[in-house]
Amino acid sequence: MHGGKGFGGGEATRDPAPTYINPNDPKGKQQAIHKAESFAEYLAKRGGGGGATPSRPTSGRRPIVGGNWKCNPASPYDLPALVANINACDTSSCDVYVCPSPLHVGIVYQSFNNGAYVAPQNCNFKGCGAFTGEMAVDQMEAMGIKWCLIGHSERRGEFGLPTPAESNALLATKLAYILDKGLNCIFCIGEPLPIRENGIDAVMAECRAQLNEILPILRGLSDHSRVVIAYEPVWAIGTGVTASPMQAQETHAGIRQYLASAVSPQLAANIRIQYGGSANAANAPELSAQPDIDGFLVGGASLKPEFAQIVAAIAAAKASARF
Ligand code: PEP
Repeated sequence: MHGGKGFGGGEATRDPAPTYINPNDPKGKQQAIHKAESFAEYLAKRGGGGGATPSRPTSGRRPIVGGNWKCNPASPYDLPALVANINACDTSSCDVYVCPSPLHVGIVYQSFNNGAYVAPQNCNFKGCGAFTGEMAVDQMEAMGIKWCLIGHSERRGEFGLPTPAESNALLATKLAYILDKGLNCIFCIGEPLPIRENGIDAVMAECRAQLNEILPILRGLSDHSRVVIAYEPVWAIGTGVTASPMQAQETHAGIRQYLASAVSPQLAANIRIQYGGSANAANAPELSAQPDIDGFLVGGASLKPEFAQIVAAIAAAKASARF
């Protein structure tokens, strides 16, 4: 189930001074693990999070950067400039995807000449038929679309409109449907500000709550590259406030550690986790240097030429980490 497609990358790399959070520590204190230790080495030392040593080194993951155009642009005449920003990206060492607005997917989906993927911002979970206003995964599949993004905080009820929030259970149903249809998925999670203000334990509890419904799906996933987790703190989305590299790394490592214990060390070592929240060309290099950040989900800056610099930054950071 949920297997079958190839995994990019595969080279061993060196990790700079990561730190990891021990979720079993009742005080929730950050634990600094050995300075030049990868997540794989860390897991191996501590007994693999309940299982065997991961088969892949952490940094064998191919970087991935997505551009979320949200409900932009207003005019279809502005699409060529946005498409050009995506086509300007060097995809030789980094996967790139773009999430056009639902109205514009059909206009631009064949416009990318560098291997960038189109990933609609939502989908239904029933297929074609009497589902007014929906986008079916089946329609995406027929168009040759390979990826779909779900679970964005703005669909989880965080964009201030009185529309029904999508639940964790609904999102798990959508994820299973996407994977069963042969598409891949970017699955967004992240905590609102009041939770972040309560500290890392509260943040991790929220991340676990948003992941728990999909754990059985992840356990059945044979190709771990088919699901990407986009960690996007709600307080950082569209605000210009970025999580610090340390905050982002701490949370990414915590998510990875949770997946190691709840799914498998192998999946935790392989799965890509993107950071999202006011990422831009200026902050991308420092965030990219964090060992558990595998890419970015970019909103505002994906509407600008600097998007290509974000892709270049993470490609360079992960390349320079290779042995
Ligand atoms: C997003 O829309 O997922 C996002 C991260 O937006 P921004 O980069 O503008 O904060």
